[in-house]
Amino acid sequence: MSPRLIDSLNLQAFTDIARNIPYQQLKSHLFPGLDVWVRRDDLIDPLISGNKAYKLFYNLIEARWRKAKTIVTCGGAWSNHIHAIAAAGARFGFKTVGIIRGERPTKLSATLQDAERFGMKLVFVTRATYRLRGGVGFLKRAGLKLENFYFIPEGGSNLAGVRGIQLLGQVIEDTAPVKFDQVWVACGTGATFGGLYSSISSASVIGVEVLNAGDSILKDVALWVQRLRHDKSIANKIQCCKLSSLRERLLNSYHCGGYGKSSSAMKVAMEEFEKHSFHPVDPVYMGKLIYALASFDNKIDQKNKTVLMIHSGGLQGGRSYDGGG
Ligand SMILES: *Cc1c(COP(=O)(O)O)cnc(C)c1O
Repeated sequence: MSPRLIDSLNLQAFTDIARNIPYQQLKSHLFPGLDVWVRRDDLIDPLISGNKAYKLFYNLIEARWRKAKTIVTCGGAWSNHIHAIAAAGARFGFKTVGIIRGERPTKLSATLQDAERFGMKLVFVTRATYRLRGGVGFLKRAGLKLENFYFIPEGGSNLAGVRGIQLLGQVIEDTAPVKFDQVWVACGTGATFGGLYSSISSASVIGVEVLNAGDSILKDVALWVQRLRHDKSIANKIQCCKLSSLRERLLNSYHCGGYGKSSSAMKVAMEEFEKHSFHPVDPVYMGKLIYALASFDNKIDQKNKTVLMIHSGGLQGGRSYDGGG
């Protein structure tokens, strides 16, 4: 299966690409009693990876509409989002600036080397400054003076990002090859989960948190869903959003100790999955998603379910495990 390519910021063209993403049925004893399918959103583009393509789409349209010259964003050294923004900027004619957490190392990560090659200007800030990324004055603290810029938060996780994911949710509703009981997705900020949760009504959406983040993902999701409910410009199927019902859908015991951490059980599940699906996955997000589903399926109410896993991309970030740390 070969990757698609997002070559315009046209809604119809983008939707067509999304509608043609393949679904693969998995034959593996990893998930006994379950009929597991994988939606290959990792194939949506060779460089603008997986769920990031959906989160960026409306942001790029907005940046173009505002006639922004530069897109500014932030992330860590192996960020899939930084990589996607740098590639998208080069392709769609924006300058890009990436504010990166921590000191500039003598040798850049493979992700940041790619980003520079795509033309992104990297600005390194201390961890203390990076913690202010959600607030006003952050760009100034990072030493940036820019005009005509459009800021996209870490992970592409803003309202435009969630709306892009709702487009994915709608496409799944329209193109699912079988009736799914559940849709499973890995969660970093939770924007992807929130977008699917609020746009898919034919199946339960379940998120696997890859960070040890307490209740913060849950609270952010609740906030996005609430704000979208008041957004009259989109006809979406916002579901009931009690915090207690959200908690059941957001699994927080499969993060293996935190972001980027792993366990031997997770690695075994991941390798088994790769062997039977014939495609690689990254350990930061997909590894934990697979591990969670493989561990979860011995729950009694989890028998005979048809489950869709979203392959959210992220292979470039997985290079951190090839010795980069
Ligand atoms: C960024 C990313 C996620 C997490 O998306 P959120 O919207 O931040 O929850 C999941 N999978 C992959 C591969 C990613 O790169």
